[in-house]
Amino acid sequence: MKYLGVELQKPKVGVFDFTSCEGCQLQLANKEGSLVDFLSLIEIVNFREISSDKSDDYDVALIEGSISRADEVERLKKIRENAKILVALGSCACFGGVNSLKNRFPIEEVVTEVYGDMPKETEPVRRVSDVVKVDLCIPGCPVSKAEVERIVVNLVTGAEVKFPKYPVCVEC
Ligand code: SF4
Repeated sequence: MKYLGVELQKPKVGVFDFTSCEGCQLQLANKEGSLVDFLSLIEIVNFREISSDKSDDYDVALIEGSISRADEVERLKKIRENAKILVALGSCACFGGVNSLKNRFPIEEVVTEVYGDMPKETEPVRRVSDVVKVDLCIPGCPVSKAEVERIVVNLVTGAEVKFPKYPVCVEC
């Protein structure tokens, strides 16, 4: 099937975390009945929570978390270069999420509050689409596992990909 002009058979999928609580990844890794079916449709090639594989060869990149450091910007750009389709996974990735609360305060104040005198490199929080092109955004804090699986299955089977409905609060 083709999606966004990209041919996908059994897509290789990477899941990557940035500034986040990792709750969205945990949703995906939950050992529910649907996990085996889901994993039979895709090939996980990079997903720190469930696998030691660290391949850069993937079709779909699921990005969890917002962007708050210079090294994250570089890492995200590399992932974008590698991925045919990039999905922002969860409200941190889509909108900045709870992390973006720090943008309400001077950055020096935030660093001192969290790290004291330790020097730390940090920047105002950005959503993923502020840094790279995002093909799909799946909001939720955390995301709904069923919703992510449905969207990925749609990608794999060639069915129309329906975007999540708003508001962003979904069942957990
Ligand atoms: Fe955690 Fe919510 Fe951010 Fe997901 S969207 S990583 S659950 S804070």
